[in-house]
Amino acid sequence: MKSQLVLFSLVSIVLSASIFQSFLKGFEQLNSISQEVLQQDEETELIKLHRNLVEISSISQNETSVSEFLANYLKKQGLTVETQSIDDSGKRQNIYAYFGDSKDAKVLISSHIDTVPPFIPYRREGDLIYGRGSVDAKGSVATQILSTLNLFQNGEIQNGDVALLFVVSEELDGAGMKFVNEHLDANWDHAIFGEPTEGKLGVGHKGIYNFAIEVQGKASHSGYPELGIDANTKLINILHKIIHSEYPTNELLGNSTINPGIIDAGVASNVVSPIAKARVLIRVASDASKVVEIISNIIEEENQEYHNINLIQSQYSEPAYLNFTVPGFESIVLAYATDIPYLTRDFKSRYLYGPGTIHVAHSANEYLSIKDLENAVIGYENLTKYLLHKQD
Ligand SMILES: [Zn+2]
Repeated sequence: MKSQLVLFSLVSIVLSASIFQSFLKGFEQLNSISQEVLQQDEETELIKLHRNLVEISSISQNETSVSEFLANYLKKQGLTVETQSIDDSGKRQNIYAYFGDSKDAKVLISSHIDTVPPFIPYRREGDLIYGRGSVDAKGSVATQILSTLNLFQNGEIQNGDVALLFVVSEELDGAGMKFVNEHLDANWDHAIFGEPTEGKLGVGHKGIYNFAIEVQGKASHSGYPELGIDANTKLINILHKIIHSEYPTNELLGNSTINPGIIDAGVASNVVSPIAKARVLIRVASDASKVVEIISNIIEEENQEYHNINLIQSQYSEPAYLNFTVPGFESIVLAYATDIPYLTRDFKSRYLYGPGTIHVAHSANEYLSIKDLENAVIGYENLTKYLLHKQD
């Protein structure tokens, strides 16, 4: 009797569990259908434009598809669109868009459409959007476009107030912005650049001095070092001097920082080293030309003995100091570089603003939230209106 009772309760537990499970399953199906409907309903023009941009792979040097998409999108929205090929391939195009025939504008709004590798597909999980470029910088691109369209549709901006500029190659060498600087025949009073700033105004960012050092030595038996020329010890001396030199600082951006990121030297522990190479990146807080001078002097000094040291300069940009006091906006200090320094036009003011954080940009986990996107549309609208009504 007792065992029957146990059996009976077991059966009833199993039965009710399976009924419960099928109920759960049905509920899950219902839930996923309603989620899907919700997701489609929820896909506002902003989320859709951002998704379309992130879904297109646009790793630096392969920006053709995203440029084409953007040119078509902006034309459909009624803007005048000019494309600008930055090299002879015709495949790398900046996009410049404005209302009517007013190529000059009071406010230039700009960001970049290339991304770092590798491509990471678009994925949405609730309020979060993952994918390459979701933050850096397609979040900025989508919100800049939507805020500008909103202001135009509400009659808050007219022809000649705003122009949009989207450039290629920011993540590689700034070739897109350099081309604009030389070849885009248009004038602007103010500029708003879009990069991830957590919805705050960037006070500025450091410049870059990126260089390599190559020391040629002469191999010999390590027991007879006087027969060789030791490239390693020379490189160590040079790096020691570089690391311990004093560099220009800046109140807002702090100290210049030195990263000897790659050292590649020697052949064996019992051989006097015939070759030593290093690659160093200095994040420059102030006066990049002074930093270049300091490094050149160190190399010159160390070269006096054998003249066997090569300094190979690969990247150089001055820091950018930006405007950052606007009512209703917080500010943020940034340690990353942008292509802003390559646009050397005379602006009355320049701002850096965008959704999402740089801490996830370039990572496998790049993401931002829908709230970030929505807030950035409002942020760009407010910033644009502020600049248009600003008395200068
Ligand atoms: Zn960026």
